[in-house]
Amino acid sequence: MFDLTGKTALVTGASRGIGRGIAICLAKQGADVAVNYHSSAEQAQAVVEEISSLGRRSIAVKADVAQKNQVEMMVEAVNKEFGRIDILVNNAGVLNYKTLDQMTEKDWDWVIDTNLKGQFLCAKSVVPLMERSGWGRIINIASIASGGVGVGYQALAHYCASKGGVVALTEGLAIELGPKGINVNAIAPGAIETDMAKEISEDEKVKQGLLARLAVKRIGQPDDIGAAAVYLASEEAGYVAGSVIYVDGGWLAS
Ligand code: NAP
Repeated sequence: MFDLTGKTALVTGASRGIGRGIAICLAKQGADVAVNYHSSAEQAQAVVEEISSLGRRSIAVKADVAQKNQVEMMVEAVNKEFGRIDILVNNAGVLNYKTLDQMTEKDWDWVIDTNLKGQFLCAKSVVPLMERSGWGRIINIASIASGGVGVGYQALAHYCASKGGVVALTEGLAIELGPKGINVNAIAPGAIETDMAKEISEDEKVKQGLLARLAVKRIGQPDDIGAAAVYLASEEAGYVAGSVIYVDGGWLAS
């Protein structure tokens, strides 16, 4: 089940956190993996080495996903190395806590461009390669704060808006690309222990507050998202399109 042997994946923002977890989980199931990063070159290289030690091929590729020319160069480099891209995981994301009165246009653009436009640019560049083989999987990382489920985050309106856009982008692309053999879905993580959510590991009160409300009594880890990505990337998920899988330890149910 969920054998990804012979598939090549590109995971954006895979130098750390959830992206790293996804990249390694895909490799464990047999995929070769291109590890995109923006500034953490050493960490990206460490992920490449970990994947190589599993017997899979891997390269690190630097690109700002918000920059069209850098995305195009990244996809070209991955295609040159592997000759294909079957699985795209749009994971790269950023946030900064700002209330509306503190939020500048620059803050808004940084978050929207990285989290939403980046997914559009990567899909646009990768899809022609998937069309060539008539098979593809695009997995967009959203959030439980994507809207419509009653979860919002304080001082993160731009982040919530970007993630709402990710869900809408996922549905729009799913209906357009499904007939071409390319399934597009999203994963909406709850609270996952990474640099982005460092308040969980740094503030015991935050951690205990979170644990009190979760059905699953532990904090989420990158591998929890990696497992969902493995499923969505697999042949077995061939009938899943335009869906959002919530991996949140039961947050929404509580
Ligand atoms: P993280 O630990 O801060 O890691 C972010 C990753 O994104 C890093 O690899 C970083 O690369 C990369 N990145 C940032 N800006 C980039 C850019 N412009 N171009 C390319 N890569 C860029 O964050 P995380 O928690 O793993 O989050 C990963 C995804 O999950 C994000 O989309 C986030 O919104 C989503 N998410 C996270 C949580 C959570 O609780 N952690 C919950 C819901 C959703 P460098 O290190 O090289 O800069």
